[in-house]
Amino acid sequence: MKLVLASGNPGKLRELDALLGPRGFELVAQSALGIESPPETGTTFEENALIKARHAARCSGFAALADDSGIEVDALGGRPGVHSARYAGEGATDQQNLEKLLEELRGVPAERRTARYRCVIVLVRDADDPAPIVARGTWEGRILEASRGSGGFGYDPIFLPAGLDRTAAELSPAEKNAISHRGLALAALLTELSAARV
Ligand code: IMP
Repeated sequence: MKLVLASGNPGKLRELDALLGPRGFELVAQSALGIESPPETGTTFEENALIKARHAARCSGFAALADDSGIEVDALGGRPGVHSARYAGEGATDQQNLEKLLEELRGVPAERRTARYRCVIVLVRDADDPAPIVARGTWEGRILEASRGSGGFGYDPIFLPAGLDRTAAELSPAEKNAISHRGLALAALLTELSAARV
């Protein structure tokens, strides 16, 4: 079954291909078909993933897979949430977003710096699929006061996963994938696909 990935991120394509290839899916990045991302106008990760998946399915005529993710900080009422990629403004770099988060949390004590990454993955069989397959993963932790580590991306250098003494940016890719929100959502997707016999 041909599956269009509603993302141009080569890292995501590789990761998903390794998991879904053996299950008979042929993954194609939407960018390879000349499909551009739609505006992410949703207020939840679910809505945004669905917007992206339906758009890719509509433009390509194939089944489509999309993910949406971000970080929710309790002391900020759940921000940046769906705005994680553009927290410091449209086109902001990972470093600018991370610095803005640290600035907003200045003076907030360690016990109130709890946060979680969330990832939602959606698969639609066609653009109007009334029963999309939805898989979710969350990763609990807290926000440090300064960066540590050079791996990962985004907010990883300031995210200390619960129960660990290394930040997400100090974990190897394999260690991160085994416990991260994205890794857990992918594992859940495989279970959902089996249950739905896709
Ligand atoms: P998207 O799901 O590709 O739209 O990315 C959402 C944004 O959330 C990213 O640009 C990062 O700022 C943040 N984010 C999502 N997952 C991670 C992660 O595993 N590490 C660090 N930042 C993340």
